[in-house]
Amino acid sequence: MKLLLIEDVSALASLTRKALEDEGFRVDVAGSAREAEDALAVEQPDVIVLDLGLPDEDGLVLLSRLRKLGRTTPILVVTARAGLNQRIDGLDRGADDYLGKPAAPAEIAARCRALLRRPGGLLGGRLSLANVELDTAGRTVAVADRYLPVARREVDVLEALLRRAGTVVPRQVIEAAIYTMDETPGPNALEASISRLRKLLAESDAAVVIHVVRGVGYMVAAKPR
Ligand code: CA
Repeated sequence: MKLLLIEDVSALASLTRKALEDEGFRVDVAGSAREAEDALAVEQPDVIVLDLGLPDEDGLVLLSRLRKLGRTTPILVVTARAGLNQRIDGLDRGADDYLGKPAAPAEIAARCRALLRRPGGLLGGRLSLANVELDTAGRTVAVADRYLPVARREVDVLEALLRRAGTVVPRQVIEAAIYTMDETPGPNALEASISRLRKLLAESDAAVVIHVVRGVGYMVAAKPR
């Protein structure tokens, strides 16, 4: 789950980022409206957490503009401006939820998960294929109800594949889904993750297989019976 955190107070941003990462989100931080728009030009976060008091522009103006441009990404506003009229104004301008500051990172994470579970939201609570099930909130993978010891990065990779099960997913698409902007994966990092996943799945009698399409990408599919 990728999250864009728009927050100009860097100490607060790092604290929140760390806490959200511990909850399984991959977090990019933007410190201004301008930085947020630059990030959104190249990244597709699953959810946006927006502070309203930004140095270069009112967060509500940014929010209205994103909605006018047709961006449907769920947006949680987290702000000190949390009076009743301000909350109503924020929701009317296209916020999906509104939280007053100071906000506990655990509550920010929980509200983001709730937004992602909404009907039509990008993330269902569970992704399953044959006897494999991935819990997108708990970040766990089970085969026939037995949990597998899957590292966080590999859960991210499997999630990217399961969302597009049965189609070949180009490696750039997988990398865009699992790495934040300031992470530079090594050239063989994705191959290594895929090979660990394939081994784990094979060892646990998973009825799915990850196919390697050389030079293109990867595809997860149910094994033929
Ligand atoms: Ca601020």
